[in-house]
Amino acid sequence: MNAIIHLATGFGIALTIIDAQSPKACTLHTTGLAVAGFAAGIIVHALLDYAPHCYPVNSRVDFISSLILLGVLIVTARKQYRLLLCCCLTGSVLPDIVDLLPAIVNKQLGWHLPVSRTPLFPWHQQIYSGSVYSGDCGVSNLNTGMVLAAVTGIVLLKRKGLRAIFSLKISTIYKKPRAGRK
Ligand SMILES: [Zn+2]
Repeated sequence: MNAIIHLATGFGIALTIIDAQSPKACTLHTTGLAVAGFAAGIIVHALLDYAPHCYPVNSRVDFISSLILLGVLIVTARKQYRLLLCCCLTGSVLPDIVDLLPAIVNKQLGWHLPVSRTPLFPWHQQIYSGSVYSGDCGVSNLNTGMVLAAVTGIVLLKRKGLRAIFSLKISTIYKKPRAGRK
């Protein structure tokens, strides 16, 4: 499945975890939550790759947009959630980074990075992968649509998590006592 879709699921996982925790719990248990989010990202990646899928996004566009999205999300997140968000996002794309990134970089940039013939993650092997080779992407489109609908639903329902990750910066600024005011 396209990396940008995997990233979207990683964001959904981060949002679900952060929404379920208080800011204090997120701060106290950041490492444990980050490890859980990282593992959840890999598991969801596996499920998506086992399911029948095509690649609706061109590989170059997918590569560049995923890189930009990853950077923007991590840089704009509040510092206390950055590790957790980073782990959920990287977990969701790690299998592709390990097994597929060298070949993609070689193709896009003309480099000659070593490429392993046997993927480390079994769902990237042809016999286990749900990659559709027949060109009939009906089921894939349905799967992709359901995944994106689920992530959209999470974003809409987990607004507390969304505000915690990005918007509290603004409210914190507003809460600062004004100089000279008693
Ligand atoms: Zn994959």
